[in-house]
Amino acid sequence: MKKKGYLALVLCFILCFCLGTCVSAEGGQVVASFYPICIFAQNVIGDVPEIRLSCLASNQTGCLHDYQLVAGDMISLSKADLFLINGAGMESFLETLSQSFPDLPIVTCSEGIELIQNPVGSETEYNAHVWLDPSNAAVMVAHIRDALSGRFPEYAETFERNASEYIHRLMKLDTLLKEESASFVHRDIVTFHEAFPYFAKAYGLNVVAVISLEPDEGISPRMLSELVVKVREAGCPPLFTEPQYPSDAAAALAAETGSRIYELDPVVTGDFDPDSYEKSMLKNLAILKEALNAE
Ligand SMILES: [Zn+2]
Repeated sequence: MKKKGYLALVLCFILCFCLGTCVSAEGGQVVASFYPICIFAQNVIGDVPEIRLSCLASNQTGCLHDYQLVAGDMISLSKADLFLINGAGMESFLETLSQSFPDLPIVTCSEGIELIQNPVGSETEYNAHVWLDPSNAAVMVAHIRDALSGRFPEYAETFERNASEYIHRLMKLDTLLKEESASFVHRDIVTFHEAFPYFAKAYGLNVVAVISLEPDEGISPRMLSELVVKVREAGCPPLFTEPQYPSDAAAALAAETGSRIYELDPVVTGDFDPDSYEKSMLKNLAILKEALNAE
């Protein structure tokens, strides 16, 4: 009898301990705001089946500049143990979110990264596309590792191992990009979305013009003639469209200026392979080599 009482006490102690510090029977729920954060978190979580990762915006949404939370997002976030965000103004819905879920731990992955100021008159103060410099991506992965280890300490060793392996891969990618970009013949580019300043800064490129059009916005004749002047003044550098944005404006501009059109991927959509970020960046490198070494 005495033994049974002791056993019950031990079991109760274990149960209480687990409720307080371990992942519950349903597992831990981690939500990442959008695609690149999801890929980074996936690499840190690795094969820990008790931690479920979901992406708030789908892997086809793209950037979150105008993203509005939907009912399904609120349900996901109500069950989340951690919400991983890019920060730097990417998640414009944060204020609404903090009011609805004041206790939800939010992890800002861009914290500590030196942000690039947006031009005067922009909607947000800073450019949010920090992840396109792989050394920034490594900082973001470290934040994810620390947050996951703090919330789920029983898996800290695994997170540490996975993160250091991934950070090693990201730094290798950074070295390769530095080596390859050092020999580009040309350095000027024109883009159609303000996504590449961090990449350009890291690898010595000059974004001479950014032609910001909404995905459904056409180019007016007046806008086209202004852009033609701008691109000609810049010496007709290559134009870089993105898979997420239509290239009609680029085609019109190329027809007028003779600039060539290429495609760069800001890695905001894609599949969920753990090496998706690296694959997209290597593809970008191959395109830049072709575009910036052309006569
Ligand atoms: Zn963007």
